[in-house]
Amino acid sequence: MSQNRGKLYVISGPSGTGKGTICKELLKDNRNEFSVSMTTRAPREGEVHGKDYFFVSKEEFLEHVERGNFLEHATVFDNYYGTPKDMVIKRLERGRNVLLDIDVQGGLQVKAVMPEAVLIFILPPSLAVLRSRLEGRGTETQEVIEKRLSKAVNEIKLIGEYDYIVVNDVLEEAADLARSIMKAENAKVPEKVMPVIRKYEQEEKGE
Ligand code: 5GP
Repeated sequence: MSQNRGKLYVISGPSGTGKGTICKELLKDNRNEFSVSMTTRAPREGEVHGKDYFFVSKEEFLEHVERGNFLEHATVFDNYYGTPKDMVIKRLERGRNVLLDIDVQGGLQVKAVMPEAVLIFILPPSLAVLRSRLEGRGTETQEVIEKRLSKAVNEIKLIGEYDYIVVNDVLEEAADLARSIMKAENAKVPEKVMPVIRKYEQEEKGE
């Protein structure tokens, strides 16, 4: 029973939890591919168009929304972000696993349209650790840090909608746990065969 279609993984969690680094670890396995999002925010130093994001204008972004080109899209910290739909579908059909590094609003939209997606939430060990990681980066003002922390608390409230929680205290352990989740998901009996099994069971029982 081969499962040819790849799986879609949503990786969410407050900024500063290290979900980007965990994604990078998972991408060392060449069956996994990253979905590059489209955004209206300005590129940060070192970010590459087409690799980190597709950086577009608000007008261009809204045109894509209009044409229904996104699997999900959301406003995060005053900028638009969206997952290009076609690329995700094509890769899944080719049997690749696709990783989305998106926020919780986006994760819930994906779950609504593709309930078979696997949702993983990356948590910091505590809010105090998250605060010190954000402050330690030295790239954000205190006001931005407070905004990110309050978004973090709001996102954590929706954790019950996710399938798995990975606490990122020691990076290597968190990455190992995420890899194990993917392995277990690959070993799952596909939902499609369950009706077939049930049919045989009913026949056996003479129902
Ligand atoms: P950053 O601007 O720091 O790269 O990302 C800010 C937040 O936007 C992160 O939580 C990231 O996961 C989220 N994000 C990135 N791309 C997308 C996307 O396509 N859709 C949604 N909903 N969130 C995204």
